[in-house]
Formats: sequence, C-alpha cells, structure tokens
Amino acid sequence: MHTNLSDGELPVDSLVQQAAAAGIDCLAITDHDSVGNVGQARVVAQPLGVKVISGVELSSQWDGQEVHVVGLGMDEHDITFGSRLLAVQQQRQQRCSKIVSRLEAAGCEDVAQQVAIETRDAVSPGRLHVARALVRTGAVKNINQAFNRYLSRGQSGYVPTRWPELAEVIQWVHEAGGVAVLAHLTKYRLSRTKQRRLATTFKAAGGDGLEVIISGSNKTDRDYMLQLAKSHDLKGSVGSDYHGPSQRWLKLGQLEPLPDQCDPVWALL
Ligand code: AMP
Ligand code: MN
Repeated sequence: MHTNLSDGELPVDSLVQQAAAAGIDCLAITDHDSVGNVGQARVVAQPLGVKVISGVELSSQWDGQEVHVVGLGMDEHDITFGSRLLAVQQQRQQRCSKIVSRLEAAGCEDVAQQVAIETRDAVSPGRLHVARALVRTGAVKNINQAFNRYLSRGQSGYVPTRWPELAEVIQWVHEAGGVAVLAHLTKYRLSRTKQRRLATTFKAAGGDGLEVIISGSNKTDRDYMLQLAKSHDLKGSVGSDYHGPSQRWLKLGQLEPLPDQCDPVWALL
C-alpha cells in the first residue's frame, strides 16, 4: 500500500486506520523507493491490533523494461539501504523537474505549481503526481489521458530514467534483511514468453516471491500466476498496490486470499 510519502493519496495514519476499519489485520507499507513511513504505520497500527510489515516498491530495469520489485521485511533502519533509497529519491526528484520542464515546453500551463502542490508530502515524486497535476490544470480530463498523452514512453513529457538493475535491487533488499517479490508481472505488457524469462531471471538473481494475487486479476490470471510461481520455485504474495480512494474499483481488504497450493512469501519473514 502506498502513502503520500510516495504517490499514495492518504497520509499513513489515515491509511492504517482505514485498513483496520476494513478488517485488515496485516499489511505492508510499500512506498516507491522509501521506507520512511513504516515506523509511523507501526505506531498507528499497534493499538488497532494490525500487524505492519516493512515494505518498499523498488523501480528497476531488466532488458530495457521497467520492472518493480517489492521488498518485504527489511530492517527499515538499515543505513546502507537508506542511503541507496535516498539516491533513488533524488533521481526521482530530478526526473520530476525535467518532466515539468518538458511539459512546459509542450505548452502545458501552471504545471509547475500544481506539481509542487501534488508532491508536497512526497520524498519519491512520480508520474502519478504529475498526472494528477495535469488533471488539476485542465490539460487532460483524467489520469489515464495524462499518461496516454504526456507521460508514457514516446510522449512529450516522458523522461527516460536509468533505474538500478533488477539483480541489484534484489541484492539491496537481501542485504537489508528482506525478501524480494516480483510485483504485478502481468501489468508490464510482456508476452507470455518474456514473462517466463523474467520470472526465470528473477529467480536466478535470488528473487524469493511472485505476486500471485493482484488487483484487477481474474481467475485465469490467478491460475497462470500460481503455476508460474510453482514452476519457478517462487513463494506467493498478495499485492493490492493500493494508492487511495480515487481507485474506485479497488476497496481495502477485498483481494482474494493466496491459494492454498501456494507457499506464502511471508513465511520467510
Ligand atoms: P513512476 O514510478 O513515477 O514511473 O510512476 C509509475 C506509477 O504510475 C505506477 O506505479 C502506477 O501506479 C502509475 N501508472 C502508470 N501508468 C498508469 C496509467 N496508465 N494510469 C494510471 N496510473 C498509471
Ligand atoms: Mn508498481
């Protein structure tokens, strides 16, 4: 789940309170390239009887493709891990400024001010913040249009980013005492062949788990992911990728449980 320290909409206190009210008894805060809200989540969660797992969603690259790795169970106070994340956060901040410059050059008005408002609580600014800002300026009607017209690869506001290599971020997670999970594999627009290659590479690089249950998946997707996890000897995980109430199709605590046939990644924690 994302908080407003990255591109989630809710402050961590509200997020944990709403999760508890929805009946969730265990959650992972997985902000993009930051563990800064894990401690506060624990503080809020403890009296509510909710267990918090330290988490992060790391951007990485593999074979020219952007791939997200969810780290779970790291020591959020690990100094080396913290300094690595800080470097990525700075890279994100620089990228965000470049995106704004490109959008201004493309004729978008008032975008800098709106991006500043959208990112005021964030240490890891991202394209979703910029998309929200573009909606606020009236340049686009909705988030999807913002990505399609401006922020996706090939569009005027797209800034290529050199994320760390996939194997590198897996190592970061392990060195901080966590387990590495390949996030939402079916959302990268890869062929089935390439998905299998990615799962193989991920396992060979020491990856531990695969998100078998994700938001918006159907039974066929879930069966496919389950088979992929089993055939690659990866544990299973459940990832809502919750960003806040504007994702109207995604309610807290409504994801399917991990199938019984799948060993859970959290057993490793
Ligand atoms: P970034 O990590 O800054 O490149 O931003 C990527 C994030 O933007 C993803 O994690 C998604 O949450 C979000 N995103 C990407 N594409 C779309 C889209 N078409 N519509 C809505 N959100 C998107
Ligand atoms: Mn992601």
